[in-house]
Amino acid sequence: MPYRDPIKAKEYNRKWAKNYYKKHKNEEHFKEKRKEWGKNTRKRLNTDVQRKEKYDKRRREWCKSSKGLESSRKWRENNKEKLALYMKEWQKNHPQQCRDAVKRCHQKRNPQIKIEVFTHYSNGTPKCACCGETEIRFLTIDHINGGGNKQRKQLGLSGSGIYKWLIRNGFPEGYQVLCYSCNLGRAHNKGVCPHKDLSGEHGVSTTMFI
Ligand SMILES: [Zn+2]
Ligand SMILES: [Zn+2]
Repeated sequence: MPYRDPIKAKEYNRKWAKNYYKKHKNEEHFKEKRKEWGKNTRKRLNTDVQRKEKYDKRRREWCKSSKGLESSRKWRENNKEKLALYMKEWQKNHPQQCRDAVKRCHQKRNPQIKIEVFTHYSNGTPKCACCGETEIRFLTIDHINGGGNKQRKQLGLSGSGIYKWLIRNGFPEGYQVLCYSCNLGRAHNKGVCPHKDLSGEHGVSTTMFI
């Protein structure tokens, strides 16, 4: 029965199409037909800007919805090889975007990694083991017995590599959290931060550097 009301008619058509899809989705000829429809739709999108915008918006919204996320997760799980191939190809064709993406990812993850490492070696709130500085941007990891640079070179680590290495190796002993100034102070003062010299723990510092 045809509906006069366009909204009702649309609703009816949608239901009918859904039922039709459920009934025939596993039939070979229907699959072929769907492929063809998809092709035609994409063709139409290429020429119709307004339609494309509408389609893209709907697609973006769907991708963000819980249903969309679930479906893409399932697809990734079932098409691991295909995805890996696709990624490889994409990386080859988009070297700059690839580098940017990796950088963005690192920028996002690095602070978390640092906090994780500092928290462990500070036994709680991250702070400098010498002066008590708590500003995370001032903090760094220090090798208690020195040789940090040598170890970095040996392991081929650079930048935040040492933090990841510490996590991977289950937080080995021999490291502490220091702020940059205490770290530098220690390096320039025969392994003792000038703070400690001034407090009398190691006598009066004889090393002066400008
Ligand atoms: Zn300090
Ligand atoms: Zn210090």
